[in-house]
Amino acid sequence: MANVKQKLFQRNCNVPTSNGKDGIYAKSVNFEKGGHGKVNGVKERGQTRRKSLNDSLEGEIRDFLINEGELHTYDDLTKVNPITPTTVLRCLQARYSARVFYTHAGCTLVALNPFQPIPHLYSLDVMREYHSAPQPQEFKPHIFIVAEEAYRNVQGHVEPVNQSLVVSGESGAGKTWTSRCLMKYYATVAASAERCQETVARIEKRVLDSNPVMEAFGNACTLRNNNSSRFGKYIQLQLNGSQVLVGASVQTYLLEKTRVTFQAPSERNFHIFYQMMKGATEKQREEWKMPHDQTFAWLPNTEKTLEEDSFGETVEAMFSLGVDEVKQRQIFRILAGILQLGNVNFCPATDESRPCELDEESKDFLQKAADLLQVCAEELQSCLCVRTLRAGKQSALLKPCSLSECGVRRDCLAKTIYSQLFDWLVSFINNSMCADNSKWCNFIGLLDVYGFECFLQNNLEQLCINYANEKLQQHFAAHYLKAQQEEYVSEGLEWSFIKYQDNQGCLDLIEGSPTSVFSLLNEECRLNRARDAQQFRVRLEKELSDNGSLSWDKFSKKPHFTVAHYAGKVSYQIEGMMEKNKDPVPPELVQLLQQSEDSLLHSLFADADTRGTNTRGQKQVVTVVSKFKNSLESLMKILHSTTPHYTRCIKPNPDCSPLTFKREEVIVQLEACGIVETINISAAGFPIRIPYTSFLRRYGLITNVKISAELTDSGGSEDGDREALASAVEGVLGVVLKGRVPDSSARSDDKNTP
Ligand code: ATP
Ligand code: MG
Repeated sequence: MANVKQKLFQRNCNVPTSNGKDGIYAKSVNFEKGGHGKVNGVKERGQTRRKSLNDSLEGEIRDFLINEGELHTYDDLTKVNPITPTTVLRCLQARYSARVFYTHAGCTLVALNPFQPIPHLYSLDVMREYHSAPQPQEFKPHIFIVAEEAYRNVQGHVEPVNQSLVVSGESGAGKTWTSRCLMKYYATVAASAERCQETVARIEKRVLDSNPVMEAFGNACTLRNNNSSRFGKYIQLQLNGSQVLVGASVQTYLLEKTRVTFQAPSERNFHIFYQMMKGATEKQREEWKMPHDQTFAWLPNTEKTLEEDSFGETVEAMFSLGVDEVKQRQIFRILAGILQLGNVNFCPATDESRPCELDEESKDFLQKAADLLQVCAEELQSCLCVRTLRAGKQSALLKPCSLSECGVRRDCLAKTIYSQLFDWLVSFINNSMCADNSKWCNFIGLLDVYGFECFLQNNLEQLCINYANEKLQQHFAAHYLKAQQEEYVSEGLEWSFIKYQDNQGCLDLIEGSPTSVFSLLNEECRLNRARDAQQFRVRLEKELSDNGSLSWDKFSKKPHFTVAHYAGKVSYQIEGMMEKNKDPVPPELVQLLQQSEDSLLHSLFADADTRGTNTRGQKQVVTVVSKFKNSLESLMKILHSTTPHYTRCIKPNPDCSPLTFKREEVIVQLEACGIVETINISAAGFPIRIPYTSFLRRYGLITNVKISAELTDSGGSEDGDREALASAVEGVLGVVLKGRVPDSSARSDDKNTP
């Protein structure tokens, strides 16, 4: 079969490029990295163009530069020759200057963020054009090509296959924007033609309306993006047998709840708080105890005006999802209660053995918070300032908290309420969008997770986020880079492995068993040694120093460790990490919320465990990293069961300025996602793979081959069957490639093919 594929491939290579020109450059190989790739005898303008290993890079660049004026016409980076970071970068820059924002990179799509609206690019007409085209791939590169390919792939060559669209990139690169765009596409092309009989909004509208609601509660203005998603999400668009969108479900990952009580300088809290402040009616202000001149400690930078400050849109979308007025009032009251809580400050008691006290102003805020959360103000104060220590089953000791502990408990209360409310909202949205199991059979999943993060100070949140990115990178590498090359070798094709960065070592370091950063973190939490950062650092050194991905700066005073991620090195500070991993919620706080007279708040905590976290061994602490690892493992299982399509979003400049391309910014991102390796493998690889049976069903009539409807490639497992299929395919290709007319005897033989 090897030579059949090669022949088919050679023929494909002479097909004109989608920009209407002859393939100016041949399929190329990676000359930079080892340079041992081999072109499959590609012909270009009548002559075979091969590069020798000894060609100097200078020569290649000169060769490349001759065509500089045409650079923007390269719709697929695999056509650039030679494929190096420099040439890929220049090509993307030329396209960006020509206002072309999408470029194929073999099996992936590169999306450059224009940072300004380009309405004509995403209109309904454009969607319909891509959807109705017999071969959308022949159109200009666009996210709609990826969308349409996935949509058509659901039907599969043989049987329906679920699809996943994985959108990656750093903060502000355009992941959420792209996901929204994809959702609009499916809500348009996969909309039911039937008139709506339902009393609630049509499903397509509900699916789209989930975006403003989830973004209001889960996005915030950060230094890197005015609308930064502070959670990850995987949304499954459910399709029925006729490919109609009948529902959706969403899974979220790791909401950054610390933002409720802490915002870095120049950053903001979640949008919803600002929306409430700006959009409230007088009546609502009164209900929320928010006079116009009131400022809130947890709401910095209110003067920034963002387009996301649209309370009306959020409320409208909530209605469309079925969140009625009563529920909305409850939600906003709870949020207002959180804000009031942020203005409560503590002062030390005159007598050290007594609990901390509140000044008059703080008492007022505490009272307002208690009223809004519908709990008793005295109990609220006591929960914040006094700890209950269990002494046996019956009795308890009361111990006043220190000043800093009071602050930690106040913050913990606010974060816990907000994250529970967020989870409740997500499950409400799911109930509103999710179709009955009997009504859908396939899905297209859209994954929009936070990009790789490296700040001056990194802690558990960044470790989890970067771990998620490592997992996705591994999935990508396994799917495209490794599997594709292994398949060539297994099919006997002449192929030299193109090296790519394998991140298994880094994943072993973070999550491996029996010993890894995660396992040690969990153990420290179990042993209640969460406060001893230096000891943890020593354990890491003792138990994991064999792993090449781990290092540290020996002269640094602060305990930390450095992980060499595929996208770069990140140093994580250990202080606070174990406490964050444990994420303890004092049981008194939970009990308080369980007594709330607000039915929604009460229900958020009705099932929570209040036995406390330190009853030594009786209760297993489910740590943040364990939960995150499990949810990520489920996600990876789903991704592995689907056909993935990768889109790499690139942020062309750090200031989010329109149409500004900073090379040094872009090159780092290209390197981080291994785009050059991907292009190389795609360029040297085979663009089309069709199972034998599908191929014969479609083209078998050329040699009069008929195969039975039930037969699949995997179904024909007997060696004899496969050989017969292979020779039938050879027969068809023989005719196509050599123009050989089959003789009658061959035809009668072929008829007997299974
Ligand atoms: P984060 O990881 O912080 O959530 P992100 O990758 O999701 O970042 P987005 O919020 O999608 O980034 O994009 C940032 C901004 O870039 C958007 O608010 C929008 O203004 C702009 N943008 C992104 N893609 C496009 C596009 N295709 N056309 C026009 N503007 C865009
Ligand atoms: Mg986002």
